[in-house]
Amino acid sequence: MIKSIDKTKCQACPLRAPGRCPVVEDCFQDVIRLDREGYPYIKYRRNCCNCHALYWFACQQDCPSQAVEVSTRASLSNRHVF
Ligand code: SF4
Ligand code: SF4
Repeated sequence: MIKSIDKTKCQACPLRAPGRCPVVEDCFQDVIRLDREGYPYIKYRRNCCNCHALYWFACQQDCPSQAVEVSTRASLSNRHVF
């Protein structure tokens, strides 16, 4: 389940231009949307399917600033074990 998006890390992110944040684009469950200022936020948390079977937390992986947290650090340590 997606946990949080650290807005402070988005503030200086060059990808925060309108429509460019990759975590919004890559969530195929449409969990994440942009607010009026262009910051991504979790709108439909319950739709998160953890998507690890195919993409391994696409939103978390695709943020270059580690602003998105989906899993615990413990489970991330096993990210390459299927
Ligand atoms: S979630 Fe990541 S990629 Fe998207 S605006 Fe924030 S820091 Fe940038
Ligand atoms: S873990 Fe997958 S399904 Fe859940 S919010 Fe992130 S990209 Fe969407």
